[in-house]
Amino acid sequence: MKIYADNAATTKMSRRAIDAMIPYMEKVYGNPSSLYTIGQEAAEALESARQTMAEHLHCMPREILFTSGGSEADNQAILSAARLGEKKGKKHIISTAFEHHAVLHTLNRLEKEGFEVTLLDVHENGLVTPQQVKEAIRPDTCLVTVMYANNEIGTIQPIGEIGSVCREAGVLFHTDAVQAAGHLPIDVQAQNIDMLSLSAHKFHGPKGVGALYAKQGIRLTNLIEGGAQERGRRGGTENVPGIVGMAAAFAESCANMEETAKKLTALRDQLIEGLSKIPHSILNGDRTKRLPGNVNFCFEGIEGESLLLLLDDAGISASSGSACTSGSLDPSHVLLAIGRIHDIAHGSLRLSLSEENTEEEIAYIIQTTGEVVDYLRKMSPVWRDLQEGKRSYVIQ
Ligand SMILES: *Cc1c(COP(=O)(O)O)cnc(C)c1O
Repeated sequence: MKIYADNAATTKMSRRAIDAMIPYMEKVYGNPSSLYTIGQEAAEALESARQTMAEHLHCMPREILFTSGGSEADNQAILSAARLGEKKGKKHIISTAFEHHAVLHTLNRLEKEGFEVTLLDVHENGLVTPQQVKEAIRPDTCLVTVMYANNEIGTIQPIGEIGSVCREAGVLFHTDAVQAAGHLPIDVQAQNIDMLSLSAHKFHGPKGVGALYAKQGIRLTNLIEGGAQERGRRGGTENVPGIVGMAAAFAESCANMEETAKKLTALRDQLIEGLSKIPHSILNGDRTKRLPGNVNFCFEGIEGESLLLLLDDAGISASSGSACTSGSLDPSHVLLAIGRIHDIAHGSLRLSLSEENTEEEIAYIIQTTGEVVDYLRKMSPVWRDLQEGKRSYVIQ
């Protein structure tokens, strides 16, 4: 069996997105800045894609900026808010300890420039509260940036309420909605969101393309200087096929959102129930306030990396956390943020599902994971010590 269960890392492109892109590679390949017909046809496709994105986010097309993905959108949103704040002498930013590195590393860079960053603690269930945000806001706060749904443990933050707190305090609010877009409802007006990042490849669109929503009136700082593309806010010839594919995938995901969520929630719950039966295992993140397709467990006494390799041998593609941390030996900053100790955080497994997964696959994942965990524990000196009572279990 070949099972793909790493949809939080990236997704398979949908047929509809691929079909939407092909004409813009084969026939309408003109440069949208050119005045002749195939250039103008490409420009029209771009504006039509912008319109589609805007409709589903509940904003105006001119508030959508196309980027190379979620990371670029995060960078640009945060740097723009920082530059705006700086002008008014406001150099304090609020975020959380479990953001994506695109956010955290941008904040690190600003700290080196003299900004002060408050990272809110994340509760053990993987949530931050609007109250925490409210208490952290100061007169010199220029930005609050809190992710909509976490990419490792899938927990969903109360974005609308955090938005209200920020709006009341007159502080800009950005959300990294890369894991949420296409999976959870988004209404930037109702949720009081000033800036929002999304990425096509997380909702069955192409890689290397994303969008930044920035409420009208927010002056963006350019990351890329060049021509007048994107109304002067991002230089460089637009990725027309990618943008068209993103809009098609976004429209499709939004149209099927409820149905997909229902199916994924059932699969997710089946998987959580099955994996919970493995002794000394624990679910990371809130049981219900999580993305419909996200499952994340820690197993005591094992190494996440070995688990992944053996699961891969058994045909299962999974992750120990975010793709960006794998390959390094540091445990996930997200699991540390929710209070898992180093040893436990090392034994983590993230399974993120899509509508293509089946109940049979879930049953296979449960059985295989149980066997692999068992096998690894038999070889683990730590596990032997635990069994012999030389050290005590952290996960009961
Ligand atoms: C994937 C991801 C990103 C980065 O998006 P790219 O398009 O790959 O640059 C940012 N934030 C979150 C929460 C993500 O899951």
